[in-house]
Amino acid sequence: MKMLALRFGSLQARIVTLFVLLFLVVQVLGFAFISRAISDNARSSLREELTVGERIFSRQLEQNGQRLIQAANILSADFAFREAIATNDEETIASALRNHGNRIKSDVMMLVGLDGKVVASTLAVKELSGKFPFMDLFRSAEREGISSVVLFEGVPYQLVIVPVKAPVAIAWVAMGFRIDEALAKDFEALTALKLSVLVREKNGDWRMMASTLSPELRDSLAWQLGNGKGSAKNRAMFLAGDEYESVVTTLSSQGTMVAAAVIQRSLREAAEPYTRLQTMLLFLSVGGLCLLIIGSVLTARRIAQPVRELASLAKRIEQGDYSQPVEVHTKDEIGELGSAFNHMRDAISTREQRIMELAYSDELTGLPNRALFMEKLNHAVLSMTRSGQSMSVLVMDLDRFKLVNDTLGHQCGDAVLRIVGERLAATVSREAETLARTVARLGGDEFAVLLPADGVSGAENVARRLLKALENPLVIQGVTIDISGSIGVVTAPGHGDDAATLMRRADMAMYEAKRGNRGFAHYETALDSESPGRLSLLSELRNAIERDELTIYYQPKVSLATGGVIGAEVLVRWNHPERGFMPPDQFIPFAEQTGFITQITRWVLRHALEQCGTWHRQGRTLNIAVNLSARDLHTPDLVNYIERQMTELAVKPEWITLEVTESAVMSDPTRALATLEALHKMGIHLSIDDFGTGYSSFAYLKKMPVDEIKIDKSFVMGMLTDADDATIVRSVIDLGHNLGLKVTAEGTENEGVLRALAALKCDLAQGYHISRPLPYEKFETWLDQYVREIKPALVIHRPA
Ligand code: C2E
Ligand code: CA
Ligand code: CA
Repeated sequence: MKMLALRFGSLQARIVTLFVLLFLVVQVLGFAFISRAISDNARSSLREELTVGERIFSRQLEQNGQRLIQAANILSADFAFREAIATNDEETIASALRNHGNRIKSDVMMLVGLDGKVVASTLAVKELSGKFPFMDLFRSAEREGISSVVLFEGVPYQLVIVPVKAPVAIAWVAMGFRIDEALAKDFEALTALKLSVLVREKNGDWRMMASTLSPELRDSLAWQLGNGKGSAKNRAMFLAGDEYESVVTTLSSQGTMVAAAVIQRSLREAAEPYTRLQTMLLFLSVGGLCLLIIGSVLTARRIAQPVRELASLAKRIEQGDYSQPVEVHTKDEIGELGSAFNHMRDAISTREQRIMELAYSDELTGLPNRALFMEKLNHAVLSMTRSGQSMSVLVMDLDRFKLVNDTLGHQCGDAVLRIVGERLAATVSREAETLARTVARLGGDEFAVLLPADGVSGAENVARRLLKALENPLVIQGVTIDISGSIGVVTAPGHGDDAATLMRRADMAMYEAKRGNRGFAHYETALDSESPGRLSLLSELRNAIERDELTIYYQPKVSLATGGVIGAEVLVRWNHPERGFMPPDQFIPFAEQTGFITQITRWVLRHALEQCGTWHRQGRTLNIAVNLSARDLHTPDLVNYIERQMTELAVKPEWITLEVTESAVMSDPTRALATLEALHKMGIHLSIDDFGTGYSSFAYLKKMPVDEIKIDKSFVMGMLTDADDATIVRSVIDLGHNLGLKVTAEGTENEGVLRALAALKCDLAQGYHISRPLPYEKFETWLDQYVREIKPALVIHRPA
């Protein structure tokens, strides 16, 4: 049934409605025409029937008359009867009339004299007591008799009159038959028409004498005849609601009295066979209508269904879904339209794909580009806020890529990028759940990886694998190229909850990784250039130098062999007017990031060298160790600056040690090494700071012109409790010694560590157990006290 259900206003409904309306109009018009034709036809054939009926009726009267005339002639020819007339034997005449009348069942028998006087009569009618009333009839009856309808006291009779001849006429015999139901019934049996005989009385009312109509219709007929339109012979009468076509014939008129016969038939009855036909026609029409509705619904469906399918396809295309084609079932116009739609869908889909490719992929590597990456990142951030699962973003920048481009050409650079892209994609997609992970090229030598389901450890894992994937040297056009990258890692929601922030922070972490040559680095809040107060911090730092807010602290370095203080590490402090005393951890990373560190380094160098000169003049032969940052090593001017200061302040190079971290060297080894080389040539001591924390490359270590290694304090502080730390400390000491370097342990916090270091033949120690960093006056006081009291008490000499 659903198949036939129509939606109002739909194409299908409109088609069906049109068909049905057309059909109904044709049918109704046809029906009206046919009805009209039927009633016209019925009426005219009925009229004919009535005309024939009228003739039959008059023929019936005539034949009755002939029969009566013969009967009357038999009587009039009867010898005895004639004799009785001739002899005026009234009694014989009367009995002959009676006998004869009985025999032929007449209603009236009379003998009328030539003078018109009634001689004998079987009817005791007052009118007949004198003269015979229908004298005028005799004249026409003279030869062989006459038959006519007459009224006796208002009752119609058929009356025949014949002469009694002997051989000339001697009298008249009149015989009458009442016109009654029998006659009407005979007529109806013969013609199937209704016959009524009525008499108009003196007052104008019609009285029914005989009729084949049913009793209830009779009064109605009498009434209508009286009130009908005058004398029209053919009339339409309505009896009990039915129309009767009628013919009125006057049978006799006597003064004001008239006898009339009404022959009629109901139109309905006459039209009966046609009506049956019409009913059948109606049934056929209704049946046809049903078939038409079903047929037109099916046809409309055949037209509308594909149109609907096309509309829904168009809607899908609008929403960007090109997956399903339209099924083309037919070869007609609709089928053609369907396949045209399919072609259009394919063309749009191909074009859109091409546009998407152009807009969302990087032509060089075929990876998604920045736009697509950002879109995916936005999605990932949204689903993260819904699911609560953490996600990570990795931003990678190749190290020294500019060098490749500049020395080997852009073509080679492009090849490097392509291979790097392939390796990154392969590494990431080797993981189990690869689906949502995305590797993109952001531009230049910058790549990014989206890990929508990884937290800190997962992201670090991937970062390590990516770095590992780049370790294999690339061979391009016969040239072997070493490539490495620095990766910044952010993990949401901890590091931010919008794409822009995450990208910015991943960038920062990447620069941090590059700066420290750390391979990869996680974002830390301290890096954020937009963390509150950062901008003002920069201008405050500038002012700090002008306003003399920086000060220098000294931390002694003690020889484990002799117990003597051989020097001190210079550590900067900031006496901030509002924030108070600030340890370097809180502003050095920031100064490194902003490049302001070079100014700080110069300031520290200037003051430390000045102090160094002073101490030497006082006889305190201390070596001072100054920390350098990566940026300092990249500043070619640094060497000249130190040279100038040494000359101005009369400081010898062997009084100075410069501490650099491995990662500071590795962020740009070529330049860093050049600077270190120059400093080394001048005779300045060089020390590798925080040894063991960075990405140590022994190849570089060998090349570096250093004199000392400082084991990072994290290993030293834990060496008594952590076996690994102890191993590392021992190994580093051995390694340093094997390379001919002095080894310093920083972070010596207690006596136990001090003893252990001494036992491992570590050369120098520095740490809180010996002294905290101190301003120079306090340092001097400490120094004096140490030499006097502490040094002798320290049991730090190596066992013999
Ligand atoms: P660093 O070069 O590793 O300096 C040693 C740090 O270890 C100092 O922290 C010192 O106070 C601390 N320390 C010394 N003995 C112990 C110990 O027994 N236990 C512990 N837990 N810590 C000990 P400080 O002064 O806060 O300096 C932090 C970092 O700031 C330095 O690390 C250095 O990288 C940087 N820095 C300090 N001054 C300068 C400077 O003038 N120039 C540059 N470029 N960096 C500087
Ligand atoms: Ca240091
Ligand atoms: Ca250190």
